[in-house]
Amino acid sequence: RDSCVSDSSDSVISSGSDSEGQVYKVVLLGEHGVGKSSLARIFGGVEDGHDCDEAGNTYDRSIIVDDEEASILLYDIWEQDNSQWLREQCMRMGDAYIIVYSVTDKASFEKASELRIQLRRARQSENIPIILVGNKSDLVRSREVSVDEGRACAVVFDCKFIETSASLHHNVRDLFEGIVRQIRLRKDSKEE
Ligand code: GDP
Ligand code: MG
Repeated sequence: RDSCVSDSSDSVISSGSDSEGQVYKVVLLGEHGVGKSSLARIFGGVEDGHDCDEAGNTYDRSIIVDDEEASILLYDIWEQDNSQWLREQCMRMGDAYIIVYSVTDKASFEKASELRIQLRRARQSENIPIILVGNKSDLVRSREVSVDEGRACAVVFDCKFIETSASLHHNVRDLFEGIVRQIRLRKDSKEE
């Protein structure tokens, strides 16, 4: 029961961290309402009948990326409570980060920059993989942040960039494959 093939995404082969090798901790950051939990639930396969933990905010799955399996523990805990302790914990614990804003909300875009700066401060000497995500790309009429603005911001902050729509499941798979590739790249360059 632990391992199954989900019909909506054939690269997801199992849930659980029982696979060989390391489990990567990936932390979602971003303002309230930008779509973090929606993205996390898609990744976790909740809609395909997979379970998450009781609190409903960590997701444990293995995905195949470039013919290699990767185990990811995704944390959607940034907004769990407002304690400074938890926020600091979040900034410290991740092997990689997904900073989400909504393309329909300029303030959430500015907040994303702030989070990027905080992260840099917390993990100064480390070269942590970060992907900046402009979510809600389906809401064309209420867009406040252009693709170019998002891309430019990512260049300034030296991170990857992708636009997604959790509603349409657009680019969500690419996002998580991207984070795995980033983690592998940084790891390889460290080992040399
Ligand atoms: P969180 O606060 O960052 O966890 O955001 P949620 O995942 O709870 O999403 C906040 C609201 O935005 C919910 O009503 C979602 O249904 C909606 N939402 C999330 N992603 C998208 C998206 O890609 N497109 C649209 N149109 N709505 C979205
Ligand atoms: Mg949420």
